[in-house]
Amino acid sequence: MLDMPTFSTHSINGHRPNRYEQFLSCHNNNVYPGTSGVQSMQRCPRLQSTALGLVFIALSASAQTPRQSTEAASPLFGGMDPSLAPGVDYFGYANGGWLKTSKIPPDLPSYGPFAQLVELNEKRLSDLIRDIARSNPPAASDERKVAEFYASYMDEKRIETHGLSVLEPTFRHIAAISDRAALARYLGATLRADVDVLNATKLYTENLFGLWVAKDLDDPTRYSPFLLQGGLGMPDRDYYLKASPQMAETRARYRAHIAAILRLAGDSQAAQKADRIFGLELLIARAHATRAQSEDVRRGDNHWSKDRLQSEAPGLDWDQYWQAAGLGQQNEFVVWQPDAVRGIAALISGQSLELWKDYLKYHAVNHMAPVLPKRFVQEDFAFYGKVLEGTPQLRARWKRATERTSHALGEPVGKLYVQAYFPPATKASIEELVHNLLKAFEIRIDALQWMAPETKIRAKAKLATLNVQVGYPDRWRDYSALQIAPGDAFGNAQRVELFDYQRDVAKLGRPIDRSEWVMTPQMVNAVNLPAMNALNFPAAILQPPFFDPKRPDSMNYGSIGAVIGHEISHSFDDQGALFDAQGRLQDWWTPQDYAHFKASSEQLVKQFDGYRPFPDLAVNGMQTLSENIADVAGLAAAYTAFHQSLAGAPAPTIDGFTGDQQFFLSFAQSWREKIRKAALRQIILANGHAPAQYRALTVRNLDEWYPAFDVKPGQTLYLPPPDRVHMW
Ligand SMILES: [Zn+2]
Repeated sequence: MLDMPTFSTHSINGHRPNRYEQFLSCHNNNVYPGTSGVQSMQRCPRLQSTALGLVFIALSASAQTPRQSTEAASPLFGGMDPSLAPGVDYFGYANGGWLKTSKIPPDLPSYGPFAQLVELNEKRLSDLIRDIARSNPPAASDERKVAEFYASYMDEKRIETHGLSVLEPTFRHIAAISDRAALARYLGATLRADVDVLNATKLYTENLFGLWVAKDLDDPTRYSPFLLQGGLGMPDRDYYLKASPQMAETRARYRAHIAAILRLAGDSQAAQKADRIFGLELLIARAHATRAQSEDVRRGDNHWSKDRLQSEAPGLDWDQYWQAAGLGQQNEFVVWQPDAVRGIAALISGQSLELWKDYLKYHAVNHMAPVLPKRFVQEDFAFYGKVLEGTPQLRARWKRATERTSHALGEPVGKLYVQAYFPPATKASIEELVHNLLKAFEIRIDALQWMAPETKIRAKAKLATLNVQVGYPDRWRDYSALQIAPGDAFGNAQRVELFDYQRDVAKLGRPIDRSEWVMTPQMVNAVNLPAMNALNFPAAILQPPFFDPKRPDSMNYGSIGAVIGHEISHSFDDQGALFDAQGRLQDWWTPQDYAHFKASSEQLVKQFDGYRPFPDLAVNGMQTLSENIADVAGLAAAYTAFHQSLAGAPAPTIDGFTGDQQFFLSFAQSWREKIRKAALRQIILANGHAPAQYRALTVRNLDEWYPAFDVKPGQTLYLPPPDRVHMW
């Protein structure tokens, strides 16, 4: 086994925009209709990781951002800076013209091709939703729910009129907590399916704990409930514990935010309570596992009985908790971070009931701030948007409404999207591309020097059973149990969270559904589901700039090809190597295979540890390892597939660029991105993907990149052949 912290995040997209509006993106991965529920209100740390890790950022951007500079010589490869040497600054060489002339829209933390596509999709989704509303769909139909969810969120006047009255039942509920058993019941009743360890890699929940219902990692025939740590208002424990002045400043701002939220909620002792609530979160943060620990699958796969939970994690009345959570009949749980669960449970009995009630009240308001009156929305943005991401401007209401609707009613909106924008011909051509990439992996596996023959047989078996899903799910999810009420933005958001939770809990005891998606078709992303041995390529990423049947193959292979390769390779990265063809957590490599893999991994960790965008903060090679492996492997496989497609003929030269140059440029340009400093820090601290500018440098590990751009020893990016990492 690899004895290193593994990492997860299998989506292609790295960041998630802020919690605000991010529904579309916020880790939706899991949050989406897929495995775990959506919590529409969840505060995903804005930048969360997903699958491929393309870091894209929020959904939408304002329309006037310049797309491309005019400096480039080539219309196909625009936005370059040919004055830079590729061997010194490859990201700048491929993207420098664009970087100079483009601006991050004021309502986004970063900008690039991902965000541009997201922006386009958002406009389309918003039009689709408004068209549906105009068509006056039948009562209780999915279309009607979409229209009413959107309209209720847009109805700011009514939200102002309701004011805080929507939270009164919650406040009464909290006020009535008179002992620890009642506290346990409240916590259980508010448990939601808002985390996902493997697929979406959403490790964050504002609730004290989060639930993920997924295929058991030891027994592929059944679902299990996974219990994860939570309870923080900032994205990760590091925000509470790191000593740097920037972090200290962020903490001071967060304390002020807690006080502001309490004041807005009418609390007369806001400042005093904020200090104590922050103090409690600090204790929770100390109990938390680190991100790298949480991503270590073998460390997390702890099956505990209900009795064991009570005896090993005393302090919380677990019986009451599970009863209230609707899981009273469940006898076994997967306790992902046992020390954190012990630590948090101990705090429940160790801290005063009054403090807990203040904490719960603050989080109840904070969590729902986006559907409360304007003063809450503004305070929410002031901290989560401005402070944590550096984004100066709140996104327009219609954009937030679109994103929320698309997140809350992911598949009904997805169905509309697919009908309008995903023709069968596109599906067919992507399926062919995927097939070519799979073939390339097979070729590369055969050619591997370091892998034992018996492991190669198993690797190919895994490849053969990989369930590749393109565009949209074969079977759509049933939303008939979800009630959406006109004019009730708050209630709708609550009901969506509960609906998703109940839907996930209902999976327990049922057979595994291999057709289920964890992303929606309208997400600009892609994901590998290790325990399901499946891939989702949503319709929305299968278009320009990632894929365009009208442009040269070199470009499609360098961009969507590398994305597809990235996702396939997650089946064989440090974590994928832990799951066999049935998705069972099981070693299927020989010790020698691991030894090679580990040595290569260490080199890659070192390579990424060397990228240092801030004096006090470097990229974390270990935290980003799985994603970096997937980038190296995906690019290598895409390169092989590209050359296979040429069948020995030379690639046509375009605008003076050779086929290999086109391929590598297309790759670097799909990582084109400008990002605000605060957002960059957040990615480095709380994301499994490296920032885009460093992902573009994956090319350093491919021998073919060096002659393509005449990169020579002595240049900054030159790696001597033994330092280049070849894994697959
Ligand atoms: Zn990935």
